[in-house]
Amino acid sequence: MSEIEQSDVIVIGAGLAGLAAAVALSGAGAKVTLLERKPYVGGRAYSYPHPALEEVIDSQHVMLGCCTNLIDLCRLSGADKHIRWYDAITFLEPGVQGKSARRSVIEPGFLPSPGHSSFSFLKAPMLSAGDKTRIAAGLLGFMRGYPATDDEPFSEWLKRTKQTKRAILHFWEPVVVGALNDSFERCSTRYAGQVFYESFLKSAEGGRLGIPTQPMSEFYEGVAELAVQQGVALRLRTSVDRLENVGDEWLATASKGESYRAPSVVLALPFEQTQRLVGGLPEADRVKLPGFDKFVHAPITTVHVWFDRAVTEMDHAALLDTRIQWVFNKSRIRRDEPGVAEETGQYLELVISASFAELEMGREEILSSALKELAGFFPGVKDAKVVKAGILKEARATFSVVPGLDRVRPEAKTTIAGLFLAGDWTRTGWPSTMEGAVRSGRLAAEAVAEAAGNRVRFLTPDAPASGLMQLVSR
Ligand SMILES: Cc1cc2nc3c(=O)[nH]c(=O)nc-3n(C[C@H](O)[C@H](O)[C@H](O)COP(=O)(O)OP(=O)(O)OC[C@H]3O[C@@H](n4cnc5c(N)ncnc54)[C@H](O)[C@@H]3O)c2cc1C
Repeated sequence: MSEIEQSDVIVIGAGLAGLAAAVALSGAGAKVTLLERKPYVGGRAYSYPHPALEEVIDSQHVMLGCCTNLIDLCRLSGADKHIRWYDAITFLEPGVQGKSARRSVIEPGFLPSPGHSSFSFLKAPMLSAGDKTRIAAGLLGFMRGYPATDDEPFSEWLKRTKQTKRAILHFWEPVVVGALNDSFERCSTRYAGQVFYESFLKSAEGGRLGIPTQPMSEFYEGVAELAVQQGVALRLRTSVDRLENVGDEWLATASKGESYRAPSVVLALPFEQTQRLVGGLPEADRVKLPGFDKFVHAPITTVHVWFDRAVTEMDHAALLDTRIQWVFNKSRIRRDEPGVAEETGQYLELVISASFAELEMGREEILSSALKELAGFFPGVKDAKVVKAGILKEARATFSVVPGLDRVRPEAKTTIAGLFLAGDWTRTGWPSTMEGAVRSGRLAAEAVAEAAGNRVRFLTPDAPASGLMQLVSR
């Protein structure tokens, strides 16, 4: 029988939740073992060398200025040097009858918050005066914050606030589906309101868009190094199959028979893997844990295309009236990273959020439809040659913030001694995001410390309100 590795805390899962928990606890002096079944850390925020394409690909992850815990973790690990920040977001409408795509640029001006983007908003051609009036009236409702409860679907809110068809298609949909990755019926007003409050109203800084300039696994490698420097025993390729309560301790057994023992265990896993692992606990313990039935996944599909020439000078843009939510110009985003050669061609990544339809479609169908749509925005696509292309389907990309979900999102501390939960799906007050994951890890670390008699705060304060929002923010 193999030896049992002993520590103070076992963290299972080295996604952002597990990494954040391990960094916080080891920084506070705990002996931590971090177990990850994959050969790399970062969980869903990963990249990998695609053998056929001979390129390292990922699904581009972005953050906002209001993601204070994620930004703090990046700062601690030095990854912040590899984030490019953008103040402006460009929305593109496809060009009609040979005309080039129409641009609406939303960016902060000189007015104080919440009016910081109002000039650019008033100028934006993608919306009529009537659409803008309804949007402004809707946003006013989120000035003091967003609803405390999450029972109302966002589809009801849109009806209740009489939003126009174009306001929905050109404003509410790109932002809400882009951020929450599901239909309006399956997103609550609470979380949609949070997106608008934190990123459009509270401050200009909160709405800045941060794009990692490295492939995601490289980007988060520094967080793993930080954890290891702080003494964390990181065990990759270690898939935990069994969890048992043995006396006052937890015993985690991995698939090759390795065993790990500690008084506390943090499950930093997605909800379905948490459910599987706790399924092996005795019935008396299982009933103390939350129900998992209300949690559902939503997919994201990304299309990766290498053209033989440049088809756009933009770094990124939100695309309107199409299946593609967002285009990232990876050649330009990665341009300053060491080892990235000057290219004559161009690599674009197209993101299709809530891609339930694409899950059923084949590679060629997705690619040809995406290229056709893309040509409506960048006419150069018609003449450019596609050198190579790949499709990445992530069926379980995010969990959906369906109305009423907050009632079942569990806290980090469970009623089972020594068992703690983390992961973006736990009760963080955030949707399925990297920020939510980091918060969950830090909340779990606070709960572990508290159970051991130490009150420590690992969470970073929320982004402050600026301008007039300081007077009205709750
Ligand atoms: C395509 C895509 C695009 C996205 N875009 C964005 C974005 O732009 N911005 C944003 O903020 N968020 C985005 N997200 C969401 C974000 O990636 C997640 O919310 C976040 O990474 C979740 O982190 P986590 O640690 O909670 O879970 P995970 O990242 O899922 O980590 C869980 C870890 O546990 C490991 N594990 C599972 N079972 C076991 C086991 N039995 N033993 C050991 N280890 C195990 C897994 O391998 C994994 O590493 C996107 C997600 C996807 C897929």
